[in-house]
Amino acid sequence: MLQKFTDSYGREVNYLRLSVTEQCNLSCFYCRSTPGECGKETGKELLTVENCLTIGQVAVDLGITRIRLTGGEPLLRPDILDITGGLAAIPGLKDLSLTTNGILLEKIAFKLAAAGLKRVNISLDSLDEANFHQITNGGKLQSTLQGIEHSLQAGLTPVKINVVLLKGINDHEIEKFVAMTMEKELDVRFIEYMPTQGQKKWSHLFLPLQRVLEIAEKIAPLVTVDGEHGGGPAQYFRLEGAVGKIGLISPLSRHFCDRCNRLRVTSDGKIKPCLFSDDEIDLRPYFSAKEQLRAKFFEALQVKPDPRKVACSPVDRVRQFQGKRSMTQIGG
Ligand code: SAM
Repeated sequence: MLQKFTDSYGREVNYLRLSVTEQCNLSCFYCRSTPGECGKETGKELLTVENCLTIGQVAVDLGITRIRLTGGEPLLRPDILDITGGLAAIPGLKDLSLTTNGILLEKIAFKLAAAGLKRVNISLDSLDEANFHQITNGGKLQSTLQGIEHSLQAGLTPVKINVVLLKGINDHEIEKFVAMTMEKELDVRFIEYMPTQGQKKWSHLFLPLQRVLEIAEKIAPLVTVDGEHGGGPAQYFRLEGAVGKIGLISPLSRHFCDRCNRLRVTSDGKIKPCLFSDDEIDLRPYFSAKEQLRAKFFEALQVKPDPRKVACSPVDRVRQFQGKRSMTQIGG
């Protein structure tokens, strides 16, 4: 690495989230851009395996040490094992992970581990079959639970469970989610709901994550613990006697922009310097010109927004920005 990959505000960027598709096999009501559209082809030209590996190689040369595959649902890509294996083989890449709804993990968890994937984050917004079905627009809870078991067995650990906390929809399940950490080596992370694409009505779904701690403390004493990888966005806690951890990710009420260490690449080949910005830089024209591709990564680094200008209350934060892409088009 010749130059430190650090942005204009002194933040070292070492993490890349690479989206490989916009398609999804679930259609969660708070995530999808158009109701019922998640399963459809978008008509956009997707990154090929070769494009993904070129991006990975350039990123690692610049100083990226961790890559997470995401989507849409990344396991819908028929060539996901080729993408995984190719990225895992890049010298200097220390951590390769994947975010999934877990539905297809039963079939593929062991193959992913053999291809070099280190760990998975699995989205799970309800532990109640009917509620899960409703939130995901038809999903089967058992498939995701099986996926979690297969990931544990395949050694894709620590398995992190991502729960988007939705007021009036799944907040009555906080206790059940928190209790999962007692017995199993699972990190259950609660994420604040973020309105996207200019949604005007959102506060009826938004619940600050303090509620999780209030409920957890009724089960057992809580201690603050360190997260992995030297400080991601989550604050971690452990219930006394628990095997797993509880994580809180509060992008709206307690933003972590001053510690942002990431870039995102969308499945149609655009770098997104910030989740909360519509800035995008197209990589497509440069796949056969590595020096230019490298220059585009530096350009992205330099337009990461000033963390001092980010509003500190949820209402102001949302007023400040709601982007054009839905979460499934970005990859979360
Ligand atoms: N299909 C994969 C999955 O289910 O994890 C990866 C893509 S999904 C877009 C990534 C994450 O974004 C999921 O945990 C999802 O719950 C979360 N997400 C989607 N919309 C969100 C929103 N409006 N606010 C907060 N998180 C959101």
